[in-house]
Amino acid sequence: MMNIYNPSNEQLLKSIQEDSAQSLQDKLHQLRQGQIQWEQKAVADRLECILKFGELVQENIDDLARILTSETGKPIQQSYNEIRGAHNRVEHLKNNAEKWLADNVIEGLEGTYEKIMHEPLGVVANISAWNFPYNVGYNVFLYALVAGNSVAYKPSEFAALTGLAITDLLYKAGIPKDVFQCIVGDGTIGQAMLEADFEGYFFTGSYPTGLHILKEVSPKMVPVQLELGGKDPLYIMDDVKEVKVAAINAAEGAFYNNGQSCCAVERIYVHEKIYNEFVEYFLEEVEGYVIGDPVSEKTFIGSLTRKGQLNLLRNQVNDATSKGAKLLLGGDELAGKGNFFAPTILTEVNHEMLVMKEESFGPIIGIQKVNNDEEAIALMKDTEYGLTAAVFATAQQRAEKVLKAMNTGTVYWNCCDRVSPNVPWSGRNKSGVGATLSSQGIRAFTQPKAYHWREV
Ligand code: NDP
Repeated sequence: MMNIYNPSNEQLLKSIQEDSAQSLQDKLHQLRQGQIQWEQKAVADRLECILKFGELVQENIDDLARILTSETGKPIQQSYNEIRGAHNRVEHLKNNAEKWLADNVIEGLEGTYEKIMHEPLGVVANISAWNFPYNVGYNVFLYALVAGNSVAYKPSEFAALTGLAITDLLYKAGIPKDVFQCIVGDGTIGQAMLEADFEGYFFTGSYPTGLHILKEVSPKMVPVQLELGGKDPLYIMDDVKEVKVAAINAAEGAFYNNGQSCCAVERIYVHEKIYNEFVEYFLEEVEGYVIGDPVSEKTFIGSLTRKGQLNLLRNQVNDATSKGAKLLLGGDELAGKGNFFAPTILTEVNHEMLVMKEESFGPIIGIQKVNNDEEAIALMKDTEYGLTAAVFATAQQRAEKVLKAMNTGTVYWNCCDRVSPNVPWSGRNKSGVGATLSSQGIRAFTQPKAYHWREV
């Protein structure tokens, strides 16, 4: 049995039955059978189940938000935001899936025709993260299902109750049990999924696990997509309209969901002309955050989901201060039960420090002064990751010059830490391979078949 604990008070929430290597094989067998019929259905019929699922999620939002908060420590208001926000994927599929999955016919010369057919991959593995289980889950399993695949969905052990609640609602919405299965367990069952025969692997999680998956499954010669971590930079130019507004937005980008977002602002560079003013406003904003019980609607900073992260953050603080950084706020975990780490601001940082180089994935930020755009570009690019990069500035041309230099899947001008289904979500370098969302995100779950024919 797997015990699920509440990370904010360490109480046992539930013990649930994990999958074994044998039950995984049984589920895979079922999914293989089910996929054959599922693929034959019209896209509109498959979509109908997804739309119904979307309705059921909204009807059950109070229970779902409570479950999500209880097992991850996410502040309740942010759980509601996530569940409501993720619905835009359902709407996006409703408006586009039939168009994207339709055959494309090309008329050639002298009675010849060609056609691109978008066939499903088959049975796909969806190994997922706990930090935004609705967003990152929907990005894979909703799109995969609409495209005609069956899905083995492994939520993280830290979001397993949410994964099971989602599974229940998918079944209620009409998705057959032999088309979608939740695989319950930790990395051990994840590993067993790598050894099983899936026709595609879609992973959201850390770079080390992603790399391991890539190495393990590459001999299978099936599509592998990896949505991994980041060390996303934000540069505040000296021409921002209001430094205070920039500071408030930057703080939200860094501390929303306790910094546990793949596209959280992980490091900030500020032009020296506005540096002092920016830091003052930033500090004032973060000092105002309500920290505490995630169930309270007033809470902005809840507990971290994983206990192990406390050590990583403490290490980053100690490393930075030992190399000359100034600790403006926080710096350690909070006394008492639960995985609480104080929102932490470090200034006088540089790229010798872990906090500016390694993913923090927590409520901690380094703010570095820069003298000009060239220096900012060089520092922003000094990373092995490539998920997002942002600039706050008034002059569009100047901002775009910086953004053009970024080797990242996403760039932001005067916004940050956001994902939209209309555009692809992808990382470069250690932030991953492949894309979800947009038309690319549905085609990712298909394989093209080229059909040539001649009228006789
Ligand atoms: P992990 O890599 O630790 O885990 C991700 C998933 O992989 C979990 O379901 C985990 O299981 C499972 N897993 C662990 N070991 C194995 C294995 N040997 N074989 C197969 N599966 C395995 O990541 P986190 O859960 O800690 O997620 C945080 C990371 O995810 C951050 O780096 C973050 O930036 C990134 N992320 C990226 C996103 C993107 O879109 N680019 C979006 C969201 C997060 P279990 O948890 O049960 O142990």
